[in-house]
Amino acid sequence: MESRRTRQQDAIEAVLADAGRPMSVQEVFSAAAATVPGIGLSTVYRTIRKLAEQGEIAAVAVPGQPDRYELAHVAATHHHHFHCTACDRVFDIRGCVGGLDRLLPSGFELHGHELTLVGACDHCSGT
Ligand SMILES: [Zn+2]
Ligand SMILES: [Zn+2]
Repeated sequence: MESRRTRQQDAIEAVLADAGRPMSVQEVFSAAAATVPGIGLSTVYRTIRKLAEQGEIAAVAVPGQPDRYELAHVAATHHHHFHCTACDRVFDIRGCVGGLDRLLPSGFELHGHELTLVGACDHCSGT
């Protein structure tokens, strides 16, 4: 197996950087098709899996949904996600509520949290 970076890897990382939000394999495929003519969905799946194994991108879990993916340097910064249930897009949310340890029963220790906000994005909220 060769370790050299491929055109597909570069294209997929560029798609994620341009989008500025976590994307599903299908979304990456749709966007990558514009820059890499003839790229197939299975190639996008395979390339995303490889990039994730190499630690260059990270999976974003969305409850009841296929994973989305974001660049590793984005994932390394503490942030949260917003899932628009109308268009199914996932967005990054800056900032954090904090103080969640107050919710814990006595004797529990908080080591981290994941938070996915759910609602309608600006495009879908109709405002
Ligand atoms: Zn939306
Ligand atoms: Zn947080």
